[in-house]
Amino acid sequence: MTKKGDMIYAWTNDAEIQKKAELGGAVTTLWKYALESRTVDAVLAVTKGVDLYDAVPVIITDPKDLAKTAGSLHCGTLLMAKLVKKFLDGAKDKKIGVTVKGCDAMAFYELAKRKQVNLDNIVMIGVNCGGSVSPITARKMIKEKYDVDPEKVHKEEIDKGQFIIEYEGGHKGISVDELEEAGFGRRSNCRRCKMKIPRQADLACGNWGVIGPKAGKATFVEVCSEKGAALVDGAVRKGMMATEPANPKGLEIRGKVEGAMFKLGDKWRKHDFEALGEGKERLKKIMSETARCIKCYQCIDVCPICYCVDCTTKNPAYVAPGELPVPFMFHLIRYAHIADSCVNCGQCEEVCAAEIPNALFMHAQQQELEKMFGHVPGTNMELPLMAYVEEKEERLRLHNTGSDMIYENVFNPFSKKGH
Ligand code: FAD
Ligand code: SF4
Ligand code: SF4
Ligand code: SF4
Repeated sequence: MTKKGDMIYAWTNDAEIQKKAELGGAVTTLWKYALESRTVDAVLAVTKGVDLYDAVPVIITDPKDLAKTAGSLHCGTLLMAKLVKKFLDGAKDKKIGVTVKGCDAMAFYELAKRKQVNLDNIVMIGVNCGGSVSPITARKMIKEKYDVDPEKVHKEEIDKGQFIIEYEGGHKGISVDELEEAGFGRRSNCRRCKMKIPRQADLACGNWGVIGPKAGKATFVEVCSEKGAALVDGAVRKGMMATEPANPKGLEIRGKVEGAMFKLGDKWRKHDFEALGEGKERLKKIMSETARCIKCYQCIDVCPICYCVDCTTKNPAYVAPGELPVPFMFHLIRYAHIADSCVNCGQCEEVCAAEIPNALFMHAQQQELEKMFGHVPGTNMELPLMAYVEEKEERLRLHNTGSDMIYENVFNPFSKKGH
């Protein structure tokens, strides 16, 4: 019997999944079992859209459709957690299975703390994540560094530190370090990311540590919960998947790779945060960059920490409407509301119409707060710092009115109560 803490190699017995899977096809096979056994009502995974730069989230309810979600799309910069909140009613009544990267898993925890998703109804299969590449950067990089037409590329993979492409007429790999030196490679938040093996999920799957005859053919699975163990046992019992204990040497290698990735994350954090400067210099830089903002609200829409129905940034008492440049208060509100819990998912930067490095600014502040208060977002169910600073009466008012307008009695000219 599989149990929490087990480290195994797993591979599918399903020929169609095997053909499309990134490695052993364990993730897709486990989803197939989860759907067939009614462990989940639906699976949220990712599939290729018009091309490999177009990762599309997809809801699967028929196990026959799962094979199209197999494989890894490294230019897929989606965040699954907010999609469950927005489009699947936070898994309130339905059991949802989701493939998660580290940032997705962290975002789920933060949304659960805010009662925006029901973790009891969510099964998470995690994938280790060395990082993802923005689709725009990927196209430019392939054209300029690989000297290949991005339209002719039909496959990409990241293996042994190289970003490798297959295209009409050949294949080419360049080390991620070299690409990043040249300003390409992974998204900047991914470079700073240290959530490499998402152990908050029920299972954490990857290729690190698969050595010997199974190299490239099996998925390394770390069993992180009893729910995850039951999934593995179920799929094996049905003959859908086979497993064996992970090679101890492979386990050691996996630990070393994870350690090396942490060091790399620290290197990039130092690099990025030092470049921001400190104190007034940092403030000036942030003010100057955010002056380009056109208040499109995309950063708010995608952020897994933003959930207020009545967003304070839309209150004219704080941010006067129709003004350009947008008053800095717009950004100050976001920093004050989110910085304690930012999971560095990069979404706010990825979608920004004005190409403002929003995630960098928020992550830098989150790190300062973490140093001060020791609060680490996205890793456990400890409440965010903000939860402790609200006054009792305010909580009572929120409860009684059902409103999240914390300024209602203060100076909002549009308040029904007036002042
Ligand atoms: P499959 O059966 O092929 O299933 C893969 C699952 O991943 C599917 O559910 C699919 O929908 C989902 N998926 C594909 N692309 C994305 C995406 N962009 N976002 C969210 N879900 C997605 N493993 C490592 O050990 N080291 C790494 O450095 C590493 N980096 C990765 C980076 C990215 C961006 C991704 C998506 C995965 C990475 N992995 C890494 C995990 C690895 O590529 C495999 O996903 C994992 O080993 C499972 O293999 P499998 O054959 O069992 O998965
Ligand atoms: Fe992967 Fe971390 Fe980037 Fe998320 S932020 S895509 S977990 S490297
Ligand atoms: Fe992600 Fe940006 Fe929100 Fe941080 S502020 S959690 S990086 S969207
Ligand atoms: Fe401003 Fe960019 Fe946010 Fe749009 S996404 S509101 S331009 S910071």
